[in-house]
Amino acid sequence: MRKLLVAICLSLTLAASGQVTPQDRIIEFPDIPGFITLKCDFHQHTVFSDGSVWPDIRVQEAIKDGLDAISITDHIEYQPHKDDIPHPDRNRPYEITLASAKNSDLIVINGSEITRSMPPGHANAIFLKDANALLVDDPVEVFRAAKKQDAFVFWNHPHWIAQSPDGIASLTETHKYLLKEGLMDGIEVVNDLTYSDEALEIALEYDLAIMGTSDIHGLVDWQYRVMYGGHRPVTLVFAKERSPAGIREALESRRTAAWFDNNLIGREEHVVPLIHSSVKIVSAAYKNNSTVAAITFENNSDVDFVIQNISDYTLQRNSDVFTIKSHDLTRLEVKTLEKMEVFELKFHVLNVIIAPGKHPEISLKVSMK
Ligand code: ZN
Repeated sequence: MRKLLVAICLSLTLAASGQVTPQDRIIEFPDIPGFITLKCDFHQHTVFSDGSVWPDIRVQEAIKDGLDAISITDHIEYQPHKDDIPHPDRNRPYEITLASAKNSDLIVINGSEITRSMPPGHANAIFLKDANALLVDDPVEVFRAAKKQDAFVFWNHPHWIAQSPDGIASLTETHKYLLKEGLMDGIEVVNDLTYSDEALEIALEYDLAIMGTSDIHGLVDWQYRVMYGGHRPVTLVFAKERSPAGIREALESRRTAAWFDNNLIGREEHVVPLIHSSVKIVSAAYKNNSTVAAITFENNSDVDFVIQNISDYTLQRNSDVFTIKSHDLTRLEVKTLEKMEVFELKFHVLNVIIAPGKHPEISLKVSMK
């Protein structure tokens, strides 16, 4: 509660000054039962391909955002700065990033972006041992080269209009072959400023990890307007332990969700516990002699949950759609018609997406004081 009060004071200061404080930009999600919630960005670029910054800047941005893990995934094949930065060893971005992060607890994972025309398009291989081994011409054999060193591979921006002009993620025969051969483990449902319902459908149908990444080339602060309260997309990884091995196990088990704009995208079994860990009832009492129950929610996550009330009861201060605000207290008044010791509220959470066009239903048991 004290942390919440500090957060509220900080947001009031923010509102007064019009500035985002260093604390505000830290991406915050609670753990869920049995798992630690790790905030990760596994798709980022530096001057070692077509990015504009040295790897140490990516480390500083990640620390400011409170991330747990990052991967620098410079294009293996596309090297527009090579006249100035010859880059014969494709592991250098990782090594420099690792050295820059050594006095922090940021986890750095070796990665590279396999950069081909469609099909198969672009893919990230992370948990690499040697990025140089991906200098393979054949567009399918390069996936085998990644798998040979036990990499985790995900399809990047399958809905990118430069390669899919209709913006629709769809599987070609090449992708179906890669999936059949077990050469693709995940798919970006969120990339930079874009989201794909069709990519989510593919993730669910083929049991792939749901990924959300920034694919940042410039500065995170500018691209996501962090000074105005924006944030980069991240993959939330629900891990048994905070370590590279813990992240790897969670990715293999598909325990991920994407945090994008004000949306959470993930499997129901992961995002519903995250909603329950985020939203707690801190007080509930009938108003005076009425049968109107005043309930206060606390939300300790970064999401402003957009709620549709589907309970048996109507509300006194809201229509059926309202918001449970991030890092704030939200008061709801429920007309229960008679005084009850316990009753149930049922909500659809409209900005949490568990399948294209589908939002989870949650129920909250309210115990009256
Ligand atoms: Zn990229």
